[in-house]
Amino acid sequence: MKFRNIGDLPFDAFTLISASAYKTPGREACGVLVGSIVNDTALVYQARPIKNISENDDSFVMDPTEYLAAIMDTDFYSDTPKYTLLGIYHTHPDFPGYPSLIDWNAAESGNVIRGMYLIFTTHGNSLHSYYWDGDKFIVLKRTQYGSSAS
Ligand SMILES: [Zn+2]
Repeated sequence: MKFRNIGDLPFDAFTLISASAYKTPGREACGVLVGSIVNDTALVYQARPIKNISENDDSFVMDPTEYLAAIMDTDFYSDTPKYTLLGIYHTHPDFPGYPSLIDWNAAESGNVIRGMYLIFTTHGNSLHSYYWDGDKFIVLKRTQYGSSAS
């Protein structure tokens, strides 16, 4: 694992994610998360929305062109990155905030990058933080922004 903790999201990143869950009622929204890793804590600086091109409303597939544009200044793509690509987020309109069977299937078929996996659910307007390690989802511990944790 590249990190075990997640710092508090900046207000605008959280707002962007939560608003996207309501903008397309009944259909999932998705995007990538960029930031940095300090000690064992991932710090999200930006949430970057990406068009969901899935044929089904209760799953997500990121538009490849928008995905590429969103990761160009990260360590996944650039030799001189501005940000670390921490992972992805998606929304669960009217579905709980744990990985669904569809999410498990997508992850196990290798369609999810190893790293942060955030799910925002309209149930309680809450953000659930996981780490996909290539094998399973692990709950990330929340820490104070910028602080180190063991
Ligand atoms: Zn899901």
